[in-house]
Amino acid sequence: FMVSSRNIRDGYASFNGDLFNHMVRVLRLGTGDGVTLVDEAGNEHQGVIDQVSREWVAVRVEAPRQAAPAGEGGARITICQALPKGEKIDLILQKGTELGAHDFSLFGGRRSVARVREEQLAAKLERWQRITAEAARQCNRRSIPGVSWSPSAAEAAGSTSQELRLLLWEGERKQGLKAALADRACPASVIVAVGPEGGFDPLEVQQFLQQGYLPVSLGNRILRTETAAIAITAILQYIWDT
Ligand code: SAM
Repeated sequence: FMVSSRNIRDGYASFNGDLFNHMVRVLRLGTGDGVTLVDEAGNEHQGVIDQVSREWVAVRVEAPRQAAPAGEGGARITICQALPKGEKIDLILQKGTELGAHDFSLFGGRRSVARVREEQLAAKLERWQRITAEAARQCNRRSIPGVSWSPSAAEAAGSTSQELRLLLWEGERKQGLKAALADRACPASVIVAVGPEGGFDPLEVQQFLQQGYLPVSLGNRILRTETAAIAITAILQYIWDT
């Protein structure tokens, strides 16, 4: 479980809220069960549940044994996703987190039907971040993927710093993903741009290309935006073992 080192004091840690729910209600852990706590510095603490009340759980904790193995190696994957309609974004954040994405850079695509008004942004970001935190906890990840927002593709593309930049573009006829990645060594970081339901507008394609994105095709079938995002995450983590 990922915890804050502030929760651990004098050999004890206690948790309420989401972590309590996850340990006690979801995983049905109880007194005497062993747990592994990982703090923000990556230190691993072995613990045993000592007490469970209706709202909190107390864990007896050993001193950190070692820095935790990262378990998050390989390429750092960022999904640069045009905002899709409705709850598809929840699916992308949840499944992307399970499959090993490290960051989500969401943006308002020119053809995105869904919009984020300025006054909604803080609440949306908080909600999206809750989804990645919940998914990270559920799949036992040691870090929570970050979620950021840009109002346009130009701004999302402009803030790119990743070593490898891929543009999943349904209009790309020549370059398949497989050929584009063949013999390529594992980059430290990779970002993949995915368009909304209506695809990328030509101007957006230009904006990504100007920032060094490599246009790639996932094949002749047109995938739904959420399928494309989830599939590319699975492929990249399979190739580069994140
Ligand atoms: N409206 C577009 C069309 O009919 O050509 C399709 C857009 S698709 C539903 C949404 C996004 O998923 C695309 O912008 C692209 O990023 C990605 N995508 C879907 N299928 C793809 C493919 N075969 N190759 C590359 N990208 C794909």
